[in-house]
Amino acid sequence: MYDIIIIGAGPAGLTAAIYARRAEKSVLIIEKDTFGGQITHSPRVENYPGFLAISGNELADKLIEQAMEQGAEIELDTVTGLKGTAGEYVVMCGSREYLAKAVIIATGSRHRTLGLANEERFIGEGISYCAVCDGAFYRGKRVAVIGGGNSALVDAVMLSENCESVVIVQNLEFLTGEPRLRRILEERENVQIIYSSVVKRIVADGTEMRGIVIADANTGAESELLVDGMFVAIGQVPENEPFEEVIRLNDYGYIVSGEACVPERAEEGEVDTRGIFAAGDCRTKTVRQVTTATADGATSALAACRFIDSLLGDLR
Ligand SMILES: Cc1cc2nc3c(=O)[nH]c(=O)nc-3n(C[C@H](O)[C@H](O)[C@H](O)COP(=O)(O)OP(=O)(O)OC[C@H]3O[C@@H](n4cnc5c(N)ncnc54)[C@H](O)[C@@H]3O)c2cc1C
Repeated sequence: MYDIIIIGAGPAGLTAAIYARRAEKSVLIIEKDTFGGQITHSPRVENYPGFLAISGNELADKLIEQAMEQGAEIELDTVTGLKGTAGEYVVMCGSREYLAKAVIIATGSRHRTLGLANEERFIGEGISYCAVCDGAFYRGKRVAVIGGGNSALVDAVMLSENCESVVIVQNLEFLTGEPRLRRILEERENVQIIYSSVVKRIVADGTEMRGIVIADANTGAESELLVDGMFVAIGQVPENEPFEEVIRLNDYGYIVSGEACVPERAEEGEVDTRGIFAAGDCRTKTVRQVTTATADGATSALAACRFIDSLLGDLR
């Protein structure tokens, strides 16, 4: 029985481990895929305080080293479910089960991709899913923004401040984001909006992205857009299905939770969720960045420690 099991070894989970170990709790982190989480996809991070610039991999390595140095255990496994009761949770991973008094869910989210043949190859080298993170690298350059919802429009407004040109490619005949944002974009001379079109492929010279080919959704007619970068803003996919019977997810699959990292219980849920916490990109929040994930890591770990200490109080 661990004091705390942390699900996900991204910035939120690793920070939670550092705080929990410093409070002398036993900690197991379970990660299914990439130790370090999403940030390992970023070649250059310039907005994490304390580092002028650092690669995502290096930042992740430092977080992992710090968590392990503090004595956190790490297991490579995929969590498939959670059951039990406050103080005695069972974290299920296929055929294996792990026990803990408290659980921190820090499973993050994935950006929805376009599913193009060589999309993965150009992530961080022409393709980005985060204008806040990578917009500065395209100052004075030509970019495309894919999508027409609020995220895409906010990205396009931000990029149009510093990029030579921004072309928005939307698959529908209209934008679904706020009219206020649409009006701002329509007034900008360096912004063009192309409706009813989808991205078919990436055009590249060897390792360098040169542009994209788009196709008219009605006629199928293809045309090439010369851009240095493409920001894909067609939504995110949280990975919270294993917990949906225990805690409440919103319509987009995020764990419903406020800044205290305390999730709401699922409507029909039978599990007493007092020792379950949610940290980082996996929960409802307005800004999804490393800084906000690490902040949640600290908040959730200290809350979990308080919960465990209160259990001891109950036994005395
Ligand atoms: C290309 C790119 C560039 C970015 N650049 C920046 C930047 O410059 N600055 C910045 O602040 N932010 C940036 N971000 C955003 C930042 O990476 C995220 O906000 C941050 O990683 C969120 O941390 P997290 O720990 O909440 O989740 P994640 O980093 O998503 O980590 C969650 C982890 O949980 C694991 N997991 C999920 N489900 C399970 C399961 N069932 N069982 C076990 N493990 C599971 C996942 O494999 C993952 O490793 C960028 C993101 C991307 C994709």
